[in-house]
Amino acid sequence: MAIHLEKLGYTYQIGTPLEKKALADISFTLADQSFTALVGHTGSGKSTLLQHLNGLLRPTAGSLTINGKKITAETKNKELGELRREVGIVFQFPEAQLFEETVLKDIAFAPKNFGKTEEEANEIARQKAKLVHLDESLLERSPFELSGGQMRRVAIAGILAMSPKVLVLDEPTAGLDPSGRVEMMEMFKRLHQEEGLTIILVTHQMNDVANYAEHVLVLEEGHLIADTTPKELFKDPKWLLEHHLSLPQTTAFATKLQKKGFVFPELPLTEK
Ligand code: ADP
Repeated sequence: MAIHLEKLGYTYQIGTPLEKKALADISFTLADQSFTALVGHTGSGKSTLLQHLNGLLRPTAGSLTINGKKITAETKNKELGELRREVGIVFQFPEAQLFEETVLKDIAFAPKNFGKTEEEANEIARQKAKLVHLDESLLERSPFELSGGQMRRVAIAGILAMSPKVLVLDEPTAGLDPSGRVEMMEMFKRLHQEEGLTIILVTHQMNDVANYAEHVLVLEEGHLIADTTPKELFKDPKWLLEHHLSLPQTTAFATKLQKKGFVFPELPLTEK
């Protein structure tokens, strides 16, 4: 599903002393079935932008068009129902939302509430569990008995159960150990390549940007300061440093840059 933003702006609490412009003049296009990384420091506007993608927020200026549907400040809430099903957002630590007695019931919750019979919803849940590599044997267990990575898979399967065309991921590997992180990223790669999902990934992990994304957007203080490919972005370490962003430390990139005489600064991979 293609997504286009045209001079989108968002200001919180307009007309109050707490008024805060979080996004200004944002324009970009994401192709259908693309994999985009969205990076930027805390407070740069990432979360505000994400919430526009499934209609949780409406722009206070400009517009966004998703699947041919244009959304502006005037769009009514009731017109956004379809969008909310088509764009699934996996917020940070989604496992905190689990609540059912069994994994199967948790994944089947949304389809059951959107008109599927119990049998249909359970069948969808089994398929989605498979898609996120959750073993059949876990389906009748309580989600709270599972490991952190497995719980997160249950939560993601629950979002996939609505059959979204776009999956928005807000720091989906936060808190996982290194091998859990790689497994999770490989899972998103599969969902992108095999299921054709359009993926938007918010991350502080430049390695993941380098290894998985085809397209990268950089936000700084509510402005879009780069709309490019990871390859282009990482060609300019000086620009990254100026914007307090780190470089990927993956071997291929590191070796290439080191060959060009670039010495890695001691930058943390996450926040400045
Ligand atoms: P990020 O996700 O990149 O950390 P956010 O989108 O959360 O950035 O925030 C962007 C800006 O909007 C920040 O300055 C933040 O303080 C402000 N902001 C976020 N939520 C609200 C809110 N509910 N009311 C007022 N300002 C907000």
